[in-house]
Amino acid sequence: MARVTIDGATHEVADGITVLAALRQCGLAPPALCNDARLAAAGACRTCVVGIGGVAHPVAACLAAVADGMMIDASGPAPLAHRRAALELLAARYPPEALAREPDHPFHRLLRAHDIVPTLNPRTRHDPVDDSHPYIRVDMARCIDCFRCVHICNDLQGQFVWQIQGRGEDTRIVPDSGTTLRASSCVSCGACVDTCPTGALADRAVHEHGAPERWTRSTCAYCGTGCELAVGTRAEQVVVCAPLLDAPVSKGHLCVKGRYATAFVHAADRVTTPLLRQGDAWREVGWDEAVAVTAERLRDIVARWGADAVGVLGSARATNEENYLAQKLARVALGTNNVDCCARVCHAPSAAALKGQLGTGAATNSFDDIERARTILVCGANPTENHPIVGARIRQAVRDGARLLVIDPRRIELAAIATCHLAPRPGTNVPLLNALAHVIVSEELVDAAFVRERVAEFTDFRAFIAAWTPQRAAPLTGVPAADIRAAARLYAGGAPALAVHGLGVTEHVQGTDGVRALVNLALLTGNLGKPGTGVNPLRGQNNVQGAAHMGCEPSQLTGGVPLADAAERVAALWGVAPPTRPGMHLLEMMDAARDGRLKALWAIGYDVLLTNAHAAATRQALAALELVVVQDMFLTETARQFGHIFLPACSSFEKDGTFMNAERRVQRVRRAIPPQGQSRPDWRILCDVGRALGAARHFAFASPEAVWEEVRAIWPAGRGITWARLEHGGLQWPCPSEDHPGTTVLHTDSFAGAARAPLARIDYQPTPETTCAAFPLLLTTGRTLWHFNAGTMTLRTPNADLHPVDQLEMAPADAARLGLAAGELVRVRSRHGEAVLPLRLDTRLAAGTCFATFHSAAAFVNELTSPLRDAVVGAPEYKVTAVAVARA
Ligand code: SF4
Repeated sequence: MARVTIDGATHEVADGITVLAALRQCGLAPPALCNDARLAAAGACRTCVVGIGGVAHPVAACLAAVADGMMIDASGPAPLAHRRAALELLAARYPPEALAREPDHPFHRLLRAHDIVPTLNPRTRHDPVDDSHPYIRVDMARCIDCFRCVHICNDLQGQFVWQIQGRGEDTRIVPDSGTTLRASSCVSCGACVDTCPTGALADRAVHEHGAPERWTRSTCAYCGTGCELAVGTRAEQVVVCAPLLDAPVSKGHLCVKGRYATAFVHAADRVTTPLLRQGDAWREVGWDEAVAVTAERLRDIVARWGADAVGVLGSARATNEENYLAQKLARVALGTNNVDCCARVCHAPSAAALKGQLGTGAATNSFDDIERARTILVCGANPTENHPIVGARIRQAVRDGARLLVIDPRRIELAAIATCHLAPRPGTNVPLLNALAHVIVSEELVDAAFVRERVAEFTDFRAFIAAWTPQRAAPLTGVPAADIRAAARLYAGGAPALAVHGLGVTEHVQGTDGVRALVNLALLTGNLGKPGTGVNPLRGQNNVQGAAHMGCEPSQLTGGVPLADAAERVAALWGVAPPTRPGMHLLEMMDAARDGRLKALWAIGYDVLLTNAHAAATRQALAALELVVVQDMFLTETARQFGHIFLPACSSFEKDGTFMNAERRVQRVRRAIPPQGQSRPDWRILCDVGRALGAARHFAFASPEAVWEEVRAIWPAGRGITWARLEHGGLQWPCPSEDHPGTTVLHTDSFAGAARAPLARIDYQPTPETTCAAFPLLLTTGRTLWHFNAGTMTLRTPNADLHPVDQLEMAPADAARLGLAAGELVRVRSRHGEAVLPLRLDTRLAAGTCFATFHSAAAFVNELTSPLRDAVVGAPEYKVTAVAVARA
């Protein structure tokens, strides 16, 4: 501690902090216009100046560090005069009408507090307003050259959009396009708006509709990163979301989706009244009729065909409480284990591999370990687009010295800052990761102590992996042997090393094996059970981790516990035993529908038709069903083409509950606006139908918190997570008691009870989906920064204008060979179907590989994908499809 004197009073403050921080700790709030807690101090505005004993000139408090015995004059006439002079200088060229119109900006408050009124004079800037961007209004006449926008874009987002031009009074901050913000490389994270103290950069929605009247803390409705945010509302409408400095994952940052893509909530085509299909048309009905008909038709099908003729799909966008109710409804009210969710088509392979080898089917570490790692391995994931806050944090870690290894067929953004980028042919992760393991073992880069104490089957593995030389893997993967060796040395030689992976690993016929091969690398190098290490699946949707973990999984009950292990405990709590017959997963349900064994499907927040691979087979399956119940906000493709009953659900802005992010963190979702129209929260719809199915005592919940209390009772590792505790931030499970702090790193001492984890010996099983003369290119699919999965939400926001959806991206060399030009429509054919998309040339792709997103029904890219599935859990192979491309 340092003892300092501030304005004559003695204080003890932490050693090494800045004078500005010390003043704030002591309850003083000097102006600091260019200061932002997320940024290094700039000392540019001079509004925080103080006097320091022994120093002749005034000192910027944000730059000076405290020292024991320091005498600080914070409020005396000299510093006040300096501050006033600095503010007057800034006000001298400031447009006065801005102050009058929006008095609440920090700079405006300061001017008022100091009684300074800007007056129009010849030095006032007259830069024209740039209204080109749908979310951000640029009015550089208000710029005071604090450069916070420049620094935050560089340091927090790593995008370098804002550039400083000119000097002195001619200084201008301009976007990197040199013209408009819209034309720049801006990724619309809104960080510059958030930090700007004057409103030079402002949220358009706020400028046009007024500042929010209320802010509600909640959790983002998009990806599995799980950023907490503040939802700003005005007149019961969502205006904008804002980042929260104390949010544990995003730490005062958001991406374009979380911050701005909210317009879907109030979209004109949102369905807010229950609908029943009548021929080709829909008939609006009341809730009583909709619930009664749903229950009656389900009861009828169960009576005629048995309970296993019905399937229920929980939703990655619904809360934990709602997914818990969905599986309970399937198991208790209907009597079937046919319940699944979209984890099946994304990270079920991760859960299976991690559970099989390490004992827990979830991320081993936390996002805070990104900053603790010396080496970061990004495998089959594109975080800057799909998990943007994770991507930004990885960028910052690399800037601060971490070494980055990227394994991805595309030269993704992170590859540009990587120490090493391996670009394997799609479908060859297993031979590549095996070869990395070979190098680690053969060059004795293993963590011998860790292997001795915590790893099983090393001797057998060493014998197995001897055959997987880089020379053997090189022709299979297309990665030179020397690069494989260099990558293995990088990963093994840079402990602690953290691995994150995505669907580029899991969505293959060897998806589970790919994750096992990653786990092998971590086991061999001792990169488990410690900070800065681990194997961490980047979960796609906001609550996909929670949906499966709550029991929307045919073979597991709440808590990820196998049916047989938990059935007795669950029966005691429910007062009725869950069925013991094995349930079908999503893809098995589709198979069963096609061959007549499944008769009804209830899809909650899930557009099965648009998002399942091999759309032709999904279409056949849905067409064969007697009953398709869709519970959603919009008439999805599934509802539009095959739905019989539509139950209108709320968005996460309209209800309470919890989500679980990719690092096992349970966080609160809070109602910011009332349900739109007659829409209802999913938990309420499920309880209503459960009661109508005759299971009233099992669905007598009055609130989502009451549902969570039952979840806690059933799930030992979540028992300590109460809603009251979540008021103060999320908690990561395992959290077995109410005094447990939650678990940031798994497997610190043992692997879910076992002392040792086995290495997996994985042979390569190439995908049957190969290129040939008729289909010479490999298509891999994914999503972009701007759009989200089925596009149900983002396509109803200005994101649709900001970025085109569903283009075929192709290497320029391939396009030239085919005589195709950027922008023209191309017909893409596979062995399974065809789609027409605009062509985009992309130098990030190797020749022979194409990429497309699958967001819109207009392109319907899943017409192309194959029926192939992961051998262990049945996840579809979205990532490898042989295609031919020609001018449409
Ligand atoms: Fe939302 Fe994911 Fe963006 Fe965070 S990174 S704001 S969770 S979409």
